[in-house]
Amino acid sequence: MELACLDLEGVLVPEVWIAFAERTGIEELAATTRDIPDYDVLMRQRLALLKAHGLTIDDIQAVISTLEPLPGAIDFIDWLRERFQVIILSDTFYEFSEPLMRQLHWPTLFCHRLVIGNDGRVEDYRLRQVDPKRMSVRALHSLNFRVLAAGDSYNDTTMLAEADVGFLIHAPQNVIEEFPQFRSVDTLEELKLAFLEASERTLDA
Ligand SMILES: [Mg+2]
Repeated sequence: MELACLDLEGVLVPEVWIAFAERTGIEELAATTRDIPDYDVLMRQRLALLKAHGLTIDDIQAVISTLEPLPGAIDFIDWLRERFQVIILSDTFYEFSEPLMRQLHWPTLFCHRLVIGNDGRVEDYRLRQVDPKRMSVRALHSLNFRVLAAGDSYNDTTMLAEADVGFLIHAPQNVIEEFPQFRSVDTLEELKLAFLEASERTLDA
């Protein structure tokens, strides 16, 4: 039995915090782990900015509703789900990604949660576990699934290493060079072919 595990941001949808920063004009929200390596410090800054600008979860989702999946992503995920059981493994938050997941027709998503107060303010965040992508693939292996995986960045590499076959897609050059063991593809069309080739079953494109 085979499963396909996909990263979300950078693969199927834009980087959500960056797109959210652009839409709201709150530039500091565009900071990522490249700017602030300590994830907890980064998230505390994000939460403080949301609070300072009085943004509730409804405001946030209204803005994110104006974002669209990357070109071809909706067709890609529909195509993939006809051929594999698909699980999205992401470091996003359910509440944040919801408007985009709706457009992707609600594939299974394993990610994290925001803590929302009664007034709709984002009070805190809860990571589901440490190294969640690797741990998810490991757990799926324990269920006797063979796992094919694809992602675009550093936070995907433990998932790709744990998977039976891992691909980079839309990855920056430094990640491609640092992880030559993972085949890199540029487009979702190429990723379709890569998944077909890596599958143990005979599948029609
Ligand atoms: Mg990503």
